Amino acid sequence: MAEGNYQVLARKWRPQRFEDVIGQEHVTRTLRNAIEAGRVHHAFLFIGSRGIGKTTTARILAKALNCRASDAPTPDPCGACENCVSIGDGNNIDVIEIDGASNNGVDDVREIRENIRMVPTSGRYKIYIIDEVHQLSMPAFNALLKTLEEPPPHGVFILATTEAHKIPATIVSRCQRFDFRRVALDRIVELLRGIAKQEGKKATDEALYAIARAAEGGVRDAESIFDQLISYCEDEIGFNDVYDVLGLVDRRVLHELCQAILDQDIPTQLRIVEDIVAGGKDLSQFVQEMLQHFRNLLVCKTDQAAALLALPEDEIKALSAQAQRFLLTRLLQLVEQFAQLTSGFDSQLAQRIALEALLIRISKVGVEISVDTVLEKLLLLGAGAAPPRDGPNPPEAGAPSPPRRPAPVQPRGAPSQPERPPALTPENVRQLWPVIQERARENSLSLGVWLGHAAASVDGDTLVLRYAADQTHARDTIEQAEQRSALEAVLASVTRNVRTFRTELRAGAAAPRETAVEYDPSQPFYPSVNPEEARKAMTDPRIARILDVFKGRIADIRHDVSLSHRDSE
Ligand SMILES: [Zn+2]
Repeated sequence: MAEGNYQVLARKWRPQRFEDVIGQEHVTRTLRNAIEAGRVHHAFLFIGSRGIGKTTTARILAKALNCRASDAPTPDPCGACENCVSIGDGNNIDVIEIDGASNNGVDDVREIRENIRMVPTSGRYKIYIIDEVHQLSMPAFNALLKTLEEPPPHGVFILATTEAHKIPATIVSRCQRFDFRRVALDRIVELLRGIAKQEGKKATDEALYAIARAAEGGVRDAESIFDQLISYCEDEIGFNDVYDVLGLVDRRVLHELCQAILDQDIPTQLRIVEDIVAGGKDLSQFVQEMLQHFRNLLVCKTDQAAALLALPEDEIKALSAQAQRFLLTRLLQLVEQFAQLTSGFDSQLAQRIALEALLIRISKVGVEISVDTVLEKLLLLGAGAAPPRDGPNPPEAGAPSPPRRPAPVQPRGAPSQPERPPALTPENVRQLWPVIQERARENSLSLGVWLGHAAASVDGDTLVLRYAADQTHARDTIEQAEQRSALEAVLASVTRNVRTFRTELRAGAAAPRETAVEYDPSQPFYPSVNPEEARKAMTDPRIARILDVFKGRIADIRHDVSLSHRDSE
């Protein structure tokens, strides 16, 4: 990013008054009040991330103390007198700005100590603004402390830092401390909108939000990006322009990688990573973008996408379609795994998303338990619970097809429906019929009883219940409006396709047998699961142990590539 280029806009739009500093009202109000009341401290400590207004506020404070348009310190410096102008330009003789990173020795601080004793030349105060003060050496801090303990009446220190924890407590306790905050998205968008208007430049809201998101609450970064875009775009600044200028990966690549994850298409996944590296993109940046992408998918699961994402309509549509193909637990897993990859990046985004994922996980406890959680629990339970390396079906080198592995295990007594229930067909009606009966029993005991008399089959998208000739009472009861709607609701929750049913009476009084699969709740798998596959799965000692520890049953068997990744850890 061209430093000179951004300077233009940042300097041009640098706030000149306390009320122009956005997002730090809690700081500027206190400073104004103190100046108005004539209670000016000798040392201030400004804490906060880079580019959110610490130095700007320090300069306004210096102007407020030394403005010549007023007889005393004023909360409203004129901005036009000799002092105000030179302080704004950073070359006032009494306001000395020092970079703590390059002047961090004890001699540097000794020089400051001697200079600050001298009476100011043109202003009321001699003011030292020390940026990145945490970079000072320990002897330098000790020298500074001596001055802070006995400051000359005209001496003022404004210390600024991004890393408060590196400042000795003895220094902090001598200062009036101000914590600067990252600026809210809406405030930054509002600021950019104002600048665009004054610059006679048009920009879409989606573009402004994309800039604000990229700036992560930093005003200077937002202005810098916007400045680049002003020279980059001849016409209106659009969403895609922001991606171009920031060197972000094309949205389509994110969608493609997501699709490849869904398809468990490892060659495509590796090819995309290769393309990104070959294209000279920053991988850590890409991981952040993937994280953001999965977070967007999570938000799409909440029906609040339009309100929360501030993305173009077609992008939200594409995200929503993709989100539907993921189970919530799978998305959470992906978000957490990508967040772990970025945890070394000191990123606000990674922290926020990890928090969101945790919150969603917490609120889903008891409804859905991911295999990850189960495995963690097993590890806590003790040795040998989850052998990390000798599980069956290790992924073969270079083989694109993932190992078959059962996925979610649901705790007994809290069966939750899968997000996409299976279609009911003549082939699986024997397996699904007991599930329908059990779900019906949960809803209404009598409904379960009346269903117990019927034999079930499927005709297209209709469930057919056949009753023996001597079971007309059961048949008539099930046809009553209340029972009918209850059963139809059960069908809607258990099957993908069947929404209604019809009843038939058979000649003869024999009890129905053709679907009479005895449902045995002691079996460690649901009747909807292929028993052969379930038994195969249970030969995995980890699965067996999970079932044992949680008194669980296998509800569904899915192919999950992320587990094989876990195996190799
Ligand atoms: Zn002035």
